[in-house]
Amino acid sequence: MTTEVRIAFDDSFARALPGLCTPWQAAPVPEPRLLVGNDALAVELGLDPAWLWSPAGVALLLGDVADHGAVPVAQAYSGHQFGGFSPRLGDGRALLLGEVLDVGGRRRDVHLKGSGRTPFARGGDGKAAVGPMLREYVIGEAMHALGIPTTRALAVIATGEHIAREHFLPGAVLVRIASSHLRVGTFQYAATQSDPEQLRRLADYVIARHHPAAAQADEPYVALLECVVEAQAALVARWMLVGFVHGVMNTDNMTVSGETIDYGPCAFMDRFDPATVFSSIDEHGRYAYGNQPRIALWNLARFAETLLDLIDLDQERAVGRATEVLQTFTDRYQAHWVAGARAKLGIADADPDDVTLLGDLLDLLHAGAADWTSWFRSLSGWVRGEGAPVRAGLTDPAGFDAWAPRWDAARNRVPRDPDAVAAAMDAVNPVYVPRNHMVEAALGAATEGDLDPFLRLVAVVSDPFVERPDAAAYAGPAPADFGPYRTFCGT
Ligand code: AMP
Ligand code: MG
Repeated sequence: MTTEVRIAFDDSFARALPGLCTPWQAAPVPEPRLLVGNDALAVELGLDPAWLWSPAGVALLLGDVADHGAVPVAQAYSGHQFGGFSPRLGDGRALLLGEVLDVGGRRRDVHLKGSGRTPFARGGDGKAAVGPMLREYVIGEAMHALGIPTTRALAVIATGEHIAREHFLPGAVLVRIASSHLRVGTFQYAATQSDPEQLRRLADYVIARHHPAAAQADEPYVALLECVVEAQAALVARWMLVGFVHGVMNTDNMTVSGETIDYGPCAFMDRFDPATVFSSIDEHGRYAYGNQPRIALWNLARFAETLLDLIDLDQERAVGRATEVLQTFTDRYQAHWVAGARAKLGIADADPDDVTLLGDLLDLLHAGAADWTSWFRSLSGWVRGEGAPVRAGLTDPAGFDAWAPRWDAARNRVPRDPDAVAAAMDAVNPVYVPRNHMVEAALGAATEGDLDPFLRLVAVVSDPFVERPDAAAYAGPAPADFGPYRTFCGT
């Protein structure tokens, strides 16, 4: 006996901005099979996991939402991809099923990826493969557990289809939850539509949904720009602090909410090098680790351009106001980065000299080929009086020996119990991130039908700050024979 479950989908975006989306149905799925369902996220959404993973729930997740009063839409957006503008991208293989209010009353998008071709599909087949969708699942969960704003996967469902990539691959649909899917590219699209009222409605909608304080400002659209600049400065600083390389920071992959979105060719860096690039198509390193802050600013400048007419009809004044806000990005980013780095190093107060201390540390880590994650984690050992692993993590520890007294002095400006300092450092320096070799092994096994390594990896990276003796294999860099790592975008 099953109870009839009805999910209260809303469609506030489609109602407010019908010109920025198209009603569309998901393609039928021949043999749906739930590969992984996110119980905790389902509960957060107020949904009963037992029902959601049942055949009726899975059917809903694949787009059968008419009984729930929802009309899925494909959203329109533009985007600068590697610097070149594409006026019409949009959800080529994705759909927004609708919005739900979670148990905290927050509005969340329920979105599908791999749900079939839409009017935005261009040459694409509208499909997605199991491996890349599981990749999005595990990286999103890791980011969430690290405390970084992110979209999250609710489920990955195998479709039973085989889709044509370099080889035939098993197909899947990802069900993704986001605070919204509105992007810099959404504003760029609206700005190409020669409908100023629609652009204003979009800006007002985004203010109301994501940055309500901006509505009270004297210049709401300048305030909106400021909020997005701040959200992205904070976000990218947090990526940098955990060694995350997004890999495809096109303007269509940058949200206005400040959540990380679109885990395609992304990866976590093992050995620290600012020039680290994983994406096979990023030939010139545009989206290299060390370039991410300045690319974020570049994207924000594209966002600002879309707002100029709303800011002031006097172009010169509008450009002046927008420029003033964009110029705050670097200081905002730096403030977030330095604050986060101080926490990683157990420094309790703020001293201007810390900036040099941190810069010198990065030079040391680069020269010493340090493994980003495990090296920072080993620092709490130093505070507890076990310095050997910190030194062993560098090819040439002499530089560290010269730097360490400066760090000790900075840390001891505020006298505290060393064990408490070490514990606070362990709470921000993760033991476990989704290491590339572990991700590859897990996705390879899952593509062959064995999900166990994937589920184990998700469990480990979902609890990243507590060291566990049985998870030692997840804590270190890739073995030397893993080779240079390449990720692929055309997923
Ligand atoms: P992404 O690289 O995933 O951010 O996607 C960039 C653009 O390409 C978006 O407009 C996607 O909807 C579209 N796209 C990517 N893969 C496919 C596909 N297999 N079929 C249709 N559209 C796709
Ligand atoms: Mg994208």
